[in-house]
Amino acid sequence: MAPLFDGIGLCKTCGYCRVIKNDRGNPFYLCRLAASDPRFAKYPRLPVLRCDGYVPCADKSEPAPDPQTNNLPPTEFERSQK
Ligand code: SF4
Repeated sequence: MAPLFDGIGLCKTCGYCRVIKNDRGNPFYLCRLAASDPRFAKYPRLPVLRCDGYVPCADKSEPAPDPQTNNLPPTEFERSQK
């Protein structure tokens, strides 16, 4: 489970999150799911403590799912509808 009180929340361990650093090295947490689902902000307000799109990604060194393909893992909301 993601550490919720680190100022980042779920995005830190989400497979859709990509960390972008600016020229000063400050990180920004980009939600890749926002590219295909308007319910999600491109740069969500942190910390994110609850999110229907959260997909745990234990190993952040692995590539995150690509929201531009049709091969996305189900969101928490979609899983709850089954
Ligand atoms: S789907 Fe939710 S938890 Fe994942 S990166 Fe986007 S806003 Fe953060």
